Amino acid sequence: MPPPAHGYEFGGPLGAFAISLSAPATTYALYFICSEDGCPSSSFLRDPVGNIASKWPGLSVAFDWDVTKHYFLWYLALVAMYFVLPGKTGEGVVLSNGKRLKYKFNGYASMLTVWGYCGFMTFREGFGWPLWAYLWDNQLQLMTGALVFSITLAFYCYISSFFTGEILANNTGNFFYDWFLGRPLNPRIGRLDLKVFSELRPGMILWPILNFASLAHQYNTHGKITDSMILVNFFHLWYVYDALHNEPAVLTTMDVTTDGFGFMLSFGDLMWLPFNYSIQCRYLAMHPFELGPLGVAGVLAVQGLGYWIFREANREKHDFRTDPNDPRLAHIKYMETKSGSRLMITGWWGIARHINYMGDWIMAWAWCLPTGYRGPFSYFYVVYFAILLLHRERRDEAKCKLKYGADWKRYTGLVPSRIVPGIY
Ligand code: NDP
Repeated sequence: MPPPAHGYEFGGPLGAFAISLSAPATTYALYFICSEDGCPSSSFLRDPVGNIASKWPGLSVAFDWDVTKHYFLWYLALVAMYFVLPGKTGEGVVLSNGKRLKYKFNGYASMLTVWGYCGFMTFREGFGWPLWAYLWDNQLQLMTGALVFSITLAFYCYISSFFTGEILANNTGNFFYDWFLGRPLNPRIGRLDLKVFSELRPGMILWPILNFASLAHQYNTHGKITDSMILVNFFHLWYVYDALHNEPAVLTTMDVTTDGFGFMLSFGDLMWLPFNYSIQCRYLAMHPFELGPLGVAGVLAVQGLGYWIFREANREKHDFRTDPNDPRLAHIKYMETKSGSRLMITGWWGIARHINYMGDWIMAWAWCLPTGYRGPFSYFYVVYFAILLLHRERRDEAKCKLKYGADWKRYTGLVPSRIVPGIY
């Protein structure tokens, strides 16, 4: 079977197989290894596999028909909002067939509808509103529901891509590799773009809701809400709010322009992101921690710095790609390339080739520091995210080398740092 032009990614079919098993297993493991009784201790680390295996309650507990049904209804409710709620229409980047797809931007309205409803009910009924306890008590079963949905979605996209004649992102002929990386680039059901929809809505909107369930649990079991819990809730809420407020910006990200929609993204969007990104709040719900005024100030400074770099760099690139002649970008120098696309060589993108990743990673610290330091568990996100960004930068570099050829070499000569200016 022919590998793609830039070679197999993620270790090829074997790597795809290994990640398909280990990523869900890691999500379950993260759920189990930290409980009210304590989080990983040195004895746990001596035999992690044995310890986790001993906590696995069996599929009959981890899977529940009703909860899975609720997860499917959650996804469908958001689909209904996509069609019913108003929103502007925009176009994606130019595709290899010269066309541009249309997208409806009402993720922001969907988010406000869901969060507004939850906020109103909590205002009326307090932290005793049954949804909060339901989400806390059934998190394991919800995770399984999300996993079942993401597997189903990946199969649907893989199979339908043989009949729809759409543009393919991966077509090696190896079932596992194509199913994992995603065969179709932009799978759609009617006007609904499954990739862009899944990328920003079911998992992203759920993530702060799970955080809030942790906040309610902390209040209901410990009788207080710590400053650290408020900060992490606020940071995550802001990140998601920002992503949906800037919804069109997703159209120029690598996930949308380059990657296929298969198990990697459907699982990442629906299971990995909401359940693993919310573990700091889950941890704080079980093991409260007060930062104090100095700690709060320090963490806010880290978050502010990271967010500023992240948002401004992403905004600059999005504006430039949407309209290179935008008068707001008149101060930016760029180089012409044979591919027809210009590359910015000053501004944020002249400082490092992925300065936006650095901002995002700085924010990752602000999301973990509020947990204090009582073991490595609550720092999972910082470590995992560093690995993701390092690997993602290499993938993007390979893609750009292929697209820009000698021009990319010229660009890397002008902007030598990959992520951290002057260091990496
Ligand atoms: P980027 O936004 O970093 O975009 C990379 C693309 O930008 C390149 O492929 C190239 O595409 C274009 N580009 C590169 N250099 C230049 C330049 N000098 N001038 C103009 N265009 C340039 O892609 P990502 O999707 O990786 O990241 C988007 C954001 O999402 C980041 O902030 C990242 O941190 C975040 N993210 C967060 C995740 C999370 O789980 N929290 C996961 C993944 C990403 P082309 O030239 O073809 O247009």
